[in-house]
Amino acid sequence: MEARSYDVMVIGGAVMGSSVAYHLLKLDPSLRVAVVERDPAYTRSSTALSLGGVRVQFSLKENILISLYAQDFFSRFEEEMAVGEERPAIDYRRAGYLFLIDEPGKPTAEKDLALQRELGGRVEWWTPERIQKEFPLFAADLFVGGTFGPRDGYLDPYGVIMGFRKKAVSLGARYITDEVTAIETARGKIAGLRLASGQVLHSEVAVNAAGPWAGEIGRMVGVELPLAPVNRQVFAVKPEVSMDRPLPLVIAPSGLYFRSETGGLILVGRSMEEDEIGFGLQWDWKRFTDWLWPELARIVPAFEKLKRVRGWAGLYEVNRLDSNAILGPWPELEGFYLINGFSGHGLQQSPAAGRYLAELILGRRPTLDLSVFAPRRILENHPLGEGAVV
Ligand SMILES: Cc1cc2nc3c(=O)[nH]c(=O)nc-3n(C[C@H](O)[C@H](O)[C@H](O)COP(=O)(O)OP(=O)(O)OC[C@H]3O[C@@H](n4cnc5c(N)ncnc54)[C@H](O)[C@@H]3O)c2cc1C
Repeated sequence: MEARSYDVMVIGGAVMGSSVAYHLLKLDPSLRVAVVERDPAYTRSSTALSLGGVRVQFSLKENILISLYAQDFFSRFEEEMAVGEERPAIDYRRAGYLFLIDEPGKPTAEKDLALQRELGGRVEWWTPERIQKEFPLFAADLFVGGTFGPRDGYLDPYGVIMGFRKKAVSLGARYITDEVTAIETARGKIAGLRLASGQVLHSEVAVNAAGPWAGEIGRMVGVELPLAPVNRQVFAVKPEVSMDRPLPLVIAPSGLYFRSETGGLILVGRSMEEDEIGFGLQWDWKRFTDWLWPELARIVPAFEKLKRVRGWAGLYEVNRLDSNAILGPWPELEGFYLINGFSGHGLQQSPAAGRYLAELILGRRPTLDLSVFAPRRILENHPLGEGAVV
């Protein structure tokens, strides 16, 4: 049986695992990096099933800084990830994010807006009249205003995985199509990975980048993480009315969200209490018809008339402690690094989180200090506040 030694082994090769691999090799091209991914088509990966949104409108300082970094990073992504003549296409559309605000939400929205601007984010306060002017189909009088991020937008998540992955491979990363079934430890340290094929990889560093499956990876070494895979449903519909400009990613006070998609489609979703915990990817038009459509049509009455086109479900990797990233070494097992718990906003955090974790592993000084997300807070039961989780 083949046994190989690496400097770093990454478990999961979607956006987080590939960002870590890319950043490690960018910082030190001599590293031997293995990425174990059981599903190279990424059919069930959260990344491939996500909405692709990038927004600076968060309430926690570090989350805002991460998104500012992402906005710049994704603008030059296609260039930075080019391999020879081949460039990935991520279709980054800066159509904006519009949070619609009701009376109870106004003080928090104003506070968040002040912080976002203080940190250099471009976010505007829109009156209902301004919303109406920009989007005449909206029933803007339902709201006291909105916050609009003109540099926010959305992109193709699959393109982002592929960009990171191909660049990491070109720098020397070895992607292994296999499943991690066990993690070996010796004297309180990471020692290796055992794969379903029987192959064993040796290394003193393992990165848990398994997204919704990260809890299972933690349990392989007796680490209980506050993570749950949660089914989230998205629907693609085609309104009868045609839009004269693409809709931003609009978020209503209830958490209902919708945005334009190519072909005159609108994507609609909402995280709900009753969303199932587990690895199932089931979805049901009843959710759209009974819950989402009535609210959607209240906000945009012209959406009363639409054609149901398709739907899908993906998994959020919900961090039940505080819905924020868990990023850094696990304090009770040397060499075990976590990049987990992104709870629905991980795609946009992948550039900064991947770079930060690579810097930590290599003992470099972090470019962006993300130590607030350190896993130690799990052991200390010390949640971070973030009010803008969708
Ligand atoms: C419906 C939906 C909408 C979303 N919208 C947004 C958004 O607008 N903006 C945003 O920023 N984020 C969004 N997200 C969240 C974002 O998609 C995730 O936070 C992010 O993609 C997580 O990336 P990941 O690489 O950690 O996980 P994943 O993409 O799930 O990758 C984990 C990988 O690990 C592999 N793996 C797991 N276990 C093993 C094992 N034992 N052995 C080998 N391989 C293994 C899996 O095959 C998988 O490919 C959304 C998510 C969903 C579901």
